[in-house]
Order: sequence, then structure tokens, then C-alpha cells
Amino acid sequence: MRSSLRIVSFAAAIVAASAPAQSYGAPSPDWTETVAPFRIADNLYYVGSRGLASYLITTPAGDILINSSLTNSPPLIRHSIEQLGFHMSDVKVLLISHAHFDHDAGSAEIIKQTHAKYMVMDGDVPTVQSGGAADFAYPDDHYPPTHVDRTLHDGDKVTLGGTTLTAHKTAGHTRGCTTWTFQTTLNGKSENVVIVGSWNVNPGFRLVDRPGKPASYPGIADDYRRGFVTLAALPCDIFLGAHGDYFHMNAKLARIKAGAGEEVWIDPDGYKTTVAERQHAFERELARQQAALPPP
Ligand SMILES: [Zn+2]
Repeated sequence: MRSSLRIVSFAAAIVAASAPAQSYGAPSPDWTETVAPFRIADNLYYVGSRGLASYLITTPAGDILINSSLTNSPPLIRHSIEQLGFHMSDVKVLLISHAHFDHDAGSAEIIKQTHAKYMVMDGDVPTVQSGGAADFAYPDDHYPPTHVDRTLHDGDKVTLGGTTLTAHKTAGHTRGCTTWTFQTTLNGKSENVVIVGSWNVNPGFRLVDRPGKPASYPGIADDYRRGFVTLAALPCDIFLGAHGDYFHMNAKLARIKAGAGEEVWIDPDGYKTTVAERQHAFERELARQQAALPPP
């Protein structure tokens, strides 16, 4: 019995090795670590966890929430909104950075609680509406499929109560990865906000076609290239993103704790440097994958 069990588990190991689970893997502990919510600018607030960014943009006609995060994140987001003195029921529009479960899996619950309109970039709509199954990288990361009320296209605007956000398609990381921009004020001055969707090439992403192993999706490398052109051209004062580590949130929060003001979020140089660094990382990875191609 013992040896046949071994054979069975050996066979299972072979199957596992040839068809690895298409899942992101273990979540990072800081994704569920609470962080006190805080104001970034006059109508812009951080309501996410330590590792997963959610933003609340308040307007006289109701609020916009960016990123519902994990299936179990809505209570944390709700608590953060209430701690700031706002109300979950005022959320009228729900947006996401991109259709991976760490940014969009809580959407069904947020919409159930708020009846917010869900607006998603075209390339990410199939993933959102299939509960993750249509994603090219992590189709095994299931979450509640969620109906999209409005399909966005590159450059589309989302307006509520006098605030207008622009959806920039910065695809590659997902097919509809979205960088959000809008203008707000801080200390009486108008500031350009950029919330980066993602610029990362994750482990296992295939940027080039190889025999028997096509690219993760047709045109993925061109999408990344176009995305970096877009990101480099965006005027940025307040630099934010889908994860705190994109914009060095913990270091900036430490400066606030040491007495600095909200001006720590104004970081045009940090934005430019990080876009250039991430573009370089993409090009390095592309070159590495191209070099692994067999000679023609
Ligand atoms: Zn992602």
C-alpha cells in the first residue's frame, strides 16, 4: 500500500510540475494589516491596508472609491471610511487599478453595500465579470464575478460632483490595467494626482512568443511599452499607486510621524525616477526573454 501511495503521489507531483496552479500564490501579510486612514489632499484619502491601497475621493455629489481589494477587505475599507467621518453609503462610483484579486475581489461586497456604479477598463472587463477566470496569469484565483456598469476605454473620464478622473490604459500587467489621474488641491494649490495601476512584470509572465509557449497574451510587450510612454508623459505632483510600495508609502508615513505635513505626498521626482526604473526593469526582462529564444 505504501509503495502504491508513493506512486500515486509521485504521479500527482508530475502533474503538478507540468501544470502549475495558475494562482498568485501566498498573499503578503501586509495586505490585511490595518493602517490608520489618512488625508492625502483636500478631497483625497487613503482607506486601504498597509499593503493594498484603496483611495476615497470625496465630492459634494458622493464619493469615488478606488480598489475593493481582497474578498475580506471591505470591512477594513468601511472602518477606514467611517474613522475619517465619511459614510460607505456615499460611495457612488467604484473603480479599480487592475483586475487582480488583491485589487478587485471585494467589489461584489462593496457594490452590495453601496449600490455604486462599477466602471472598469475594457481589457479587464472579462476578468472582472468572470471572477478572475479570464485573467491570463492567475485564472485559478477565483472571487465573486461582478457586473460592470460602464466599460471604460483609454482616456475616458469619470466625473462626479465636479471632480473628473481620467482613465489611462497602462496595460501589460493585466489587459486593462488602469492608471488614474485627476486634479485636487493641497494648501490652496492645484496638484496633479497620479495613481499608478501597475508597471510590474510578474514571475511567469511571457513577453515573447517561444515555440510551444506563446506570449502571455498577443501584444503584451507592446502594451507595456505604450504604458511606459503614457506614464512618462503624465504630469505628476502627488505620486500614488495600487500598492504602498510603488510610492514608498511607509517611508513617507514615517516622515509625517516625525512632523512633516501632507506635502510628503508631493513627489514629482520620485515619480519620474520610479517610472524610469520600472521601465528599465521591463526592458531588462524583455531582453532576457528574447535572448532565451532559439536562433532563427
Ligand atoms: Zn497585479
